[in-house]
Amino acid sequence: MKITVIGTGYVGLVTGTCFSEMGNNVYCIDIDNGKIECLKKGIVPIYEPGLEELVLKNQSNGDLIFTNNLKEGLNNSNICFIAVGTPMGEDGSANLQHVLDAAKEVGQLVNHDLIVVNKSTVPVGTADKVKTTILEELEQRNLKFNIEVVSNPEFLKEGSAVEDFMRPDRVIIGSSNENVIETLKELYAPFTTNHERFITMDVRSAEMTKYAANAMLATRISFMNEIANICEKVGADINNVRKGIGSDKRIGYNFLYAGCGYGGSCFPKDVKALIKIAANKGYDANILKEVEALNNQQKLTLVRKVVDKFGESLSGLTFGIWGLSFKPGTDDMREAPSVVTINKLCELGAKVQVYDPQAMEVAEKYYFEDNKKVKYAKNKYDALDSVHSLLLLTEWKEFRSPDFEEMSKRMVNKIIFDGRNQYNKETLKEFGFEYHQIGNGYEG
Ligand code: NAD
Repeated sequence: MKITVIGTGYVGLVTGTCFSEMGNNVYCIDIDNGKIECLKKGIVPIYEPGLEELVLKNQSNGDLIFTNNLKEGLNNSNICFIAVGTPMGEDGSANLQHVLDAAKEVGQLVNHDLIVVNKSTVPVGTADKVKTTILEELEQRNLKFNIEVVSNPEFLKEGSAVEDFMRPDRVIIGSSNENVIETLKELYAPFTTNHERFITMDVRSAEMTKYAANAMLATRISFMNEIANICEKVGADINNVRKGIGSDKRIGYNFLYAGCGYGGSCFPKDVKALIKIAANKGYDANILKEVEALNNQQKLTLVRKVVDKFGESLSGLTFGIWGLSFKPGTDDMREAPSVVTINKLCELGAKVQVYDPQAMEVAEKYYFEDNKKVKYAKNKYDALDSVHSLLLLTEWKEFRSPDFEEMSKRMVNKIIFDGRNQYNKETLKEFGFEYHQIGNGYEG
């Protein structure tokens, strides 16, 4: 099939690349000329496992074309995906400006019938707005085409985006047009060999499904963090409690970890947006408000433990930081717990030495209020030279089984504050470390 994808960020680039990998002809469009120029030269602006290889392969065989020329893309396509950002507006609602701009441009340039597939995460009712916007532009041009707007929310996860797109748990299509559904079923067939994974529904339910999924996952995290906080008060261990409750099939083990909070470009903004969507209709989404409030507190949980140990003033102290990205497998630091943690440590007078396998460049450019207090280390051990403690913030695999002897030699105090509960308490005791976890008040 011939496809245009508007927006070449995480979602658009992965979507376009994976469709081209299955033999479709894909135009990837972006208004960011710098991004398009880089991609044309084969430079992939984001880190995602396996992505660069697929981009280069499909670009060289002509199936994947990067351009800022939307007209060229549309002239050669019968399906147009919209995968632009929907950032958080000042009041917490989803900002639809990019989506509606993209719709307007489609209406100004399209010269034939078109299936418009919205992949951006958008409030219920946006598909109608997109259709109206396109039809208004066509009317201005005295043209009439059949424009079908479909909702196809994306569920890929940063860090495993290609894998998730290639083998999705499900593909959701919101449309009431049987022909359109058949076309998209064919397009997605290579990814959904098990047809149960291709789920169709009305447009509004599809739009809502994305928010409900992210809100559910965020709720699970905040719930576990709440239980962890109670465990600390009562002398229980969240690691054991997790095993105990996860064994119940109705609960399950996945996504059941306590930690120092969720971040990223989706959960925080989508939870806020859903609260706002509900409020606009006069409904107070109390659970979601608490999920968000608890997460904001949880991002500072390690700082609270550091203050309990060292006092309110941290001047003269240096902390090693392992992990900056909001989760492993990505260089994305949007809303990452590391940002809040490091800014707070520095505000209290500390210096930090940081290391992350992927996010060092992006961290240095954008994230810290006082970059003079932040030293960027070459590797995980250099980040520990003469530090008074280590804070582990992202559970990258390379932090899983470190050389504790080497760490002991480098650190002034052998103290670890672990925001992701990565180590065995007994092992660390043997190596002489003082070890603080999340949700582990168990001393015996
Ligand atoms: P992103 O910010 O990485 O990329 C968006 C891209 O769209 C940018 O490159 C921007 O320049 C481009 N753009 C904006 N307006 C444009 C226009 N008019 N024409 C052409 N290009 C335009 O965003 P993302 O992370 O890919 O997210 C896109 C959407 O998908 C959001 O709604 C997000 O909530 C949703 N989503 C994201 C993820 C994720 O993990 N990142 C997962 C699922 C869903």
